[in-house]
Amino acid sequence: MKKLIDDFRKLLDVNAPIIFIHNFDFARVDDFISKALGDARIIEWNPATGTTNFLNKEAKGYEFEDLETFLLEKYKDENFKGDRYLVLKEIHDYFDNPRVKALLQLIAQRKLYDRGYSTTLIIVSSLDRIPEEVKRYVSYLEIEYPSDSEIDSLIHQHIEINKAKFDENNKDKLMLSLKGMSEYEIDRVLDMAMSSNGTLGAEDTGMILEQKKQMVKKSGVVELIDSSEKLDSIGGLDALKTYLQQKARVFKDWSNAKRFGVTLPKGVFIVGMPGCGKSLCAKATANIFEAPLLKLDMGSMMGKYVGQSEENLRNAIKIAEAAAPCVLWIDEIEKAFSGVGGNNDIMTRMFGYFLSWMQEKKSNVYVIATANNADNLPPELKRKGRFDEIYCVNLPNQAEREAIFKVHLEKKLDYKCLSQAEYKSISMSSLSACTDGFNGADIESVVNETVERCFLADKQCTLSTQSLVETAKLTISISKSCAKQIADMKNVFKASSFKDATTGKMSN
Ligand code: ATP
Repeated sequence: MKKLIDDFRKLLDVNAPIIFIHNFDFARVDDFISKALGDARIIEWNPATGTTNFLNKEAKGYEFEDLETFLLEKYKDENFKGDRYLVLKEIHDYFDNPRVKALLQLIAQRKLYDRGYSTTLIIVSSLDRIPEEVKRYVSYLEIEYPSDSEIDSLIHQHIEINKAKFDENNKDKLMLSLKGMSEYEIDRVLDMAMSSNGTLGAEDTGMILEQKKQMVKKSGVVELIDSSEKLDSIGGLDALKTYLQQKARVFKDWSNAKRFGVTLPKGVFIVGMPGCGKSLCAKATANIFEAPLLKLDMGSMMGKYVGQSEENLRNAIKIAEAAAPCVLWIDEIEKAFSGVGGNNDIMTRMFGYFLSWMQEKKSNVYVIATANNADNLPPELKRKGRFDEIYCVNLPNQAEREAIFKVHLEKKLDYKCLSQAEYKSISMSSLSACTDGFNGADIESVVNETVERCFLADKQCTLSTQSLVETAKLTISISKSCAKQIADMKNVFKASSFKDATTGKMSN
């Protein structure tokens, strides 16, 4: 709260005419504004009650007047002397009204140019929307997510109020699960946790993470992914797996690594053929890093809300920074940045913002960016300094196909369809030999389809080299269904300086 109040006062000191606060938690915003402004004159206008006593919402004495009248009166008011603050809540629906826009501009200009007129507009809104014409007068006040020490004090406040029992040994885990939530959300989940049995224990961490998943999802930009994939679930890609294991050691032991002089891991960019394990790598990384995995899906973000995509990217980064240490998986990064440099301003601005964030990143957010198509990506993204390394994932070679068959067949050992003896008798090299040009997803589907075929054949078929080879022969692999795209991608890899995820050698 102190930092927020300081930031707010700084804006007042530089004579900001309009301060914009994007937040839905009006009670908390009111709280910090009144703390920051003390007993200054504050008048509120909101669409529900019109002109309102800011400090005492129940107080009578104001007639309901519309926003236009309210602003006009405050603009023309010649008699008022001294500082005055107008808190305007949820006024985005009124931005279609040209008089409202003009009055906001006029009040802002008068504050800038008329020394005797000190009226500051504070717009508080659950939507991040400001008309273009007014933007130039606006200073944004960011409400940061609570820091570690603030989370700590919120936990202790709740324990005191609820007289709850608390095991301090569980504190680190609890703190980690609360990172990346707003103060309001933390209050809510702590209340929920304590209301069940009056304690705040290890059993509550699961419930809190579940709630956090919902909240993060509601933010509409990132998703908290729960996954148990391990590096062993990935067949092949040995060089990339070794690389990720090394980064995991640094990430998990960051305070020692930092003291030793190691630079903060930024992230890895994985470009590759579809269905070859890029997503698996992102999920397994979060597990070996022992950190939460936040997924930002660029494809759906750009598709759904093009106009809001810039704000969404900022929000996603803000959530990830607050949730650090964490892994931020940016899927289909090419969807957002492959048109940079053309006449798409939003894309170019987003790209600039993303690059400078990557370049200057101080927080322990490890970024895994994945892309199918690296052809039109701006060269700045591929330059060192943004990502620590760029790996390309090709279609699996013979040994890798064997390894992928093993991964998926071993999963079937838990079921009736495959016994240990049957598994041992399968010739992996025969399977690999007849699946040249298959990707990991094709191989997985060969295994699954064979299992289904055996089930439907009612014991006349078992999971064997022969039945698997038969299915493989009937499968149309990615190399056949997307021959041109695969050939193009191979050429792009050859022409670029990426590290091969299998061998670790440069691709060109
Ligand atoms: P896309 O670019 O289409 O999103 P991707 O490279 O992210 O694909 P994944 O989602 O990781 O591919 O894999 C698709 C499916 O194929 C998964 O279900 C996974 O089990 C299987 N698969 C792919 N590659 C491998 C691999 N190397 N080892 C084991 N399974 C794999």
